[in-house]
Amino acid sequence: MRTIELNKRQEQILQIVKDNGPITGEHIADRLNLTRATLRPDLAILTMSGYLDARPRVGYFYTGKTGTQLLSENLKKILVKEYQSIPIVVPENVSVYDAICTMFLEDVGTLFVVDKASKLVGVLSRKDLLRASIGKQELTTLPVNIIMTRMPNITVCRREDLLIDAAKELIEKQIDALPIIKDTDEGFELVGRLTKTNITKAFVALAEE
Ligand code: ADP
Repeated sequence: MRTIELNKRQEQILQIVKDNGPITGEHIADRLNLTRATLRPDLAILTMSGYLDARPRVGYFYTGKTGTQLLSENLKKILVKEYQSIPIVVPENVSVYDAICTMFLEDVGTLFVVDKASKLVGVLSRKDLLRASIGKQELTTLPVNIIMTRMPNITVCRREDLLIDAAKELIEKQIDALPIIKDTDEGFELVGRLTKTNITKAFVALAEE
């Protein structure tokens, strides 16, 4: 269901339908001196990608949507859950030193801090840890809950949210990641992580599909 590059024959079909639609598959095939069966895959692609619409007993007609319109429509259908990553967490009493080790070992830029019941209580970014490291404190005994960004100041998203809305939050709040949460009576249950890398992957997938 993505914007695609059309081949020569698909471009020809599109032009025929633009000029003559609504038009049946057989009539398109006649104009191209091809069989209906040969055209079937091309017609399927053109309908699935939104360029053409088909109505029973009427035929194909041009939707009038440009490639950019279709791309933008499809972009607004992508959900957070389609591109989410696994959250990397630390407990709230862990030391800044151990959090730094976890960040390196897990190769992530943002750690989430959870309480004993696995509920989200904080966020630790690279700069939070760097800031703590340039002070005079002893990092092995300094707990992360002193330096983390805590609730209720955490920007979150949910699995069913639109990816585009999550991307806007990343830009607006100038942050690299959002925790993906599930609402429960006891608070936010952490279920995933959405980062700028996830958004970049969606961007590349849109271009390639
Ligand atoms: P960096 O510190 O590497 O620039 P960010 O831009 O993600 O990374 O973080 C900037 C600040 O925002 C940090 O203090 C961090 O704790 C905080 N932060 C990061 N993610 C969130 C979030 N989802 N909600 C609230 N604050 C966040």
